[in-house]
Amino acid sequence: MSEPQSEIQHFTKHWQQQLAEAFNNIDDLCRYLDLSPDDLPVSTAAVEDFPLRVPLSFAACIEKGNPHDPLLRQVLPIKDELFAYPGFSNDPVGDLAAATRTSVLHKYHGRVLFINTGSCAINCRYCFRRNFPYADLQLGKQKETTAIQAIRDDASISEVILSGGDPLLLSDARLARLMQQLNGIKHLKRIRIHSRLPIVLPARITDELIDTIRQSPQQIVMVVHCNHANEISARVIAACNALKNSGITLFNQSVLLKGVNDNAEILCELSERLFGNGVIPYYLHLLDKASGTGHFEVSETEALALIKQVQAALPGYLVPKLVKEQAGAASKQPVF
Ligand SMILES: *Cc1c(COP(=O)(O)O)cnc(C)c1O
Repeated sequence: MSEPQSEIQHFTKHWQQQLAEAFNNIDDLCRYLDLSPDDLPVSTAAVEDFPLRVPLSFAACIEKGNPHDPLLRQVLPIKDELFAYPGFSNDPVGDLAAATRTSVLHKYHGRVLFINTGSCAINCRYCFRRNFPYADLQLGKQKETTAIQAIRDDASISEVILSGGDPLLLSDARLARLMQQLNGIKHLKRIRIHSRLPIVLPARITDELIDTIRQSPQQIVMVVHCNHANEISARVIAACNALKNSGITLFNQSVLLKGVNDNAEILCELSERLFGNGVIPYYLHLLDKASGTGHFEVSETEALALIKQVQAALPGYLVPKLVKEQAGAASKQPVF
């Protein structure tokens, strides 16, 4: 399938410009996808709760005219989001209160989550931080200095995980400054970056970014977030190759989502396509129960049955670990 000229031109632009041109309303997205909003269960109230945001590089992977497309389901605001499912709350993981006080979340031994920004390039409707006041997470210089000092002062920390939001939304200059400070901390063995940008805005993976990251004496691990093989376009593949060729180890985490990837064949195809492009399947998360996301839930029983089917079909290293987040636990909890 050949791309229209306007899209080819869009993809030549700087990533920040591509981001600025992301879809931000239902009508524009539907028009682009040859869908009529009148035929879909869309909800403007859901948009008010949590805005629509979809970069063209992701929208271009959605099948035109298909209201049930698994990628569309991840980003389209629908009426189901307004329904209060029992057991779903605004802070399912119990992290958010802590995250406003400090940008360093130290829950597991040896590694900390360093929240650098609350923003993302895409608003996934199943996001566990969707109900959170994002502005409070913005990392000012003072908070950053305090956070770095806390990491420097605790020699038990061997790995810093840059997280968010999406840490790759920071400018190269901000990232460079951050990396420089982390690079000076002797007890750090690894820096890990948790980002969905290589998948949803592959233009972010520039040579300059890679140079910035690579200056680190520590090992660099990147955990991307991809839920369906259709998200892995030629541009995503190029971005993953560039990262991998520069010596960065790539893993993927997915969320098990009803109507998106709750099918063994789809999960197998995802693992195969990831690994075929240098990305190792890491985690398959059960949904965190954030308000507005109940319609995505796959039960633990179903999840177990699915992962057993995947295990029966693939080599062990292509089977992601099925896990769930449990407040107060010492690690992600294995379900299988
Ligand atoms: C998920 C998570 C991590 C990373 O866990 P790994 O099992 O090492 O991938 C670290 N800190 C926090 C607070 C987390 O939620």
